[in-house]
Amino acid sequence: MSIIAIDPANGKVIRKYRPNTPKQADQKIKQTHKAWLNWKNTTHQERSALLTAMAGVLQTRKTELAILMAQEMGKPTSQGVAEIEKCASVCEYYAANAGNQLADQIIETDASKSYITFQPLGVVLAVMPWNFPFWQAFRFLAPALAAGNCGVLKHASNVPGCALAIEDVVRQAGFPENVFQTLLVESAMVEKIIENPFIQAVTLTGSTNAGKQVAQKAGSLVKKTVLELGGSDPYVILEDADLEKAAEICVNSRVINGGQSCIAAKRFIVVKSVEKEFTKYFLAKMKAKKLGDPLDILTDIGPQARTDLRNELHEQVKLSIKKGAKCILGGTLPKGKGAFYPATILTKVKPGMPAYDEELFGPVAAIISAKDKADAIRIANDSSFGLGSAVFTKDRERGEKIAATQLQSGSCFVNALVKSDPRLPFGGIKQSGYGRELGMFGIHEFVNIKTVFVA
Ligand code: NDP
Repeated sequence: MSIIAIDPANGKVIRKYRPNTPKQADQKIKQTHKAWLNWKNTTHQERSALLTAMAGVLQTRKTELAILMAQEMGKPTSQGVAEIEKCASVCEYYAANAGNQLADQIIETDASKSYITFQPLGVVLAVMPWNFPFWQAFRFLAPALAAGNCGVLKHASNVPGCALAIEDVVRQAGFPENVFQTLLVESAMVEKIIENPFIQAVTLTGSTNAGKQVAQKAGSLVKKTVLELGGSDPYVILEDADLEKAAEICVNSRVINGGQSCIAAKRFIVVKSVEKEFTKYFLAKMKAKKLGDPLDILTDIGPQARTDLRNELHEQVKLSIKKGAKCILGGTLPKGKGAFYPATILTKVKPGMPAYDEELFGPVAAIISAKDKADAIRIANDSSFGLGSAVFTKDRERGEKIAATQLQSGSCFVNALVKSDPRLPFGGIKQSGYGRELGMFGIHEFVNIKTVFVA
C-alpha cells in the first residue's frame, strides 16, 4: 500500500509514496548504525558547527517548509514559519549548550579519580506525529545528534513530504551521510523495527494508545523509551484573574494549530463568580478567529489534519451535547470540501462527557464551572492526563504556589499559555507519558550515564 499525502483543505491527493520494504528499512538502519560508529567519535565542536549550519538551512527554507506543512496537514503558513524558526532555535540551543551539559562530572569518592561521563547510545528510533511535523522531529533530533547519537524517523503517514524534507535539511547542513534517515513505513512495521538489534532506544510523540504499544514492545526487549503523549490541559481561572487578558491567552492556546496540539488548553475551569464575564470575553475572542485556507496569511484556523480525525472530534462534540453540554459557538460541520471544523465552545461540561474525560484534538473549548479555588484544582487534576496546566490570578505568589505544588502536570504556567522552550524540560505525567525532552534533562535521556572509577 502506498503512503499518500492528501491536502486536508480540499481532499486532493498531493503525492503517493512507495513505502520502504522491511528489507529496505533494515538496510537503512544498518547504514545509520555504520554512520554512528564514526559520528560517536566526533567532538562537541564539530557537532555544534553542524547544528549551527542546520539552523541556517532551516531559516533559509522556512517559507518553503511552511507551505509544505500547510499542504500536507493544514497548518496556517504564518504558524508554519514560526515552527521552522523554533526548530532553528533548538539546533542553536544545543549547539551552544550540549558541550557543557555532557561534560564529565567529577565525583569525590575513595577512588583516585571517579567521575560521570555521558556516552552516546547509538541509533534511536523516533516515532513522530503530524501536528508539528518539523518541531516534534527536531526536538528529538537536535539533542540526539548533539549527544553523538544517530536517528531514524518513522513519521506520521500523512506527512511523508515533511519527513523527507527533514532528511534533506540534515543533508544540506553538511552532516555525514546517514547519521539521520527517514523510514517511509506504516505503523504496522514499527514493532519489527524496534526488534532490529541496531535500534537502541525509542522516542514516541502521539496518542496514548500508540505510546502504550510501542513502550510494550520496547520494554519486552529492554530498550529505553521516552513517551510524549496526549494531554487535556486544564486552565484554571480564579476569581481575581484579569479576565479579558486570561480569555485572550486561553483562546490563543485553544486554537493554535487548529487546536491540534498536545499542550493546547482544552479544559477551562472557571470559578463560578466570574464564569459569566469570562465566558463573554472568551466567546467574543473565539468568534473572531478566522477559519479558512491555510495558505491565506489572514487564516487563524486551517482545516484539521485528516477528515477521519475531524469526524471523530465532531462525534465527541455531539456526544457531549447529548449528555447535557451546551454549545454556544460552532459545533456544526461546515458545508463544502475539506476537513474544516469551526471554533466551538461547550459550556456546562461535566464528568462522563467526552469534553471532560477525553482529549479533544481540535478547536473545541470545554468550559467547566468550579465552586471555588479548591474545587477548581480538584477538577483540574480529575484527569487521566498530566501534560501541562495553567492558572490565572492577579496574585502572582498565589498562582506560583498553585503551579508548583497543586496542579498535577509536567509543567504549569502562571498567567501564560503552556509552551515548549528549548531551555526548559518538557514532558508529562500520568497518561501523558514519561521522560523529558529539551533542556539538560532532554539530552540526558538517551545517553549512557556512565560511572568511571579509577582506584
Ligand atoms: P497516533 O498516535 O496514531 O500517531 C502518532 C505516530 O505514531 C504516527 O507516526 C503513527 O504512525 C504512529 N503510530 C500509531 N499507532 C502506532 C502503533 N501501534 N505502533 C507504532 N506506531 C504507531 O495519532 P493519530 O494521528 O491517529 O491521532 C489520534 C489522536 O492522537 C489525536 O486525535 C490526538 O488525540 C492524539 N495525538 C496526540 C499528539 C501529541 O502531540 N501528543 C500528536 C498526534 C496525535 P501512522 O501515522 O503511520 O499511523
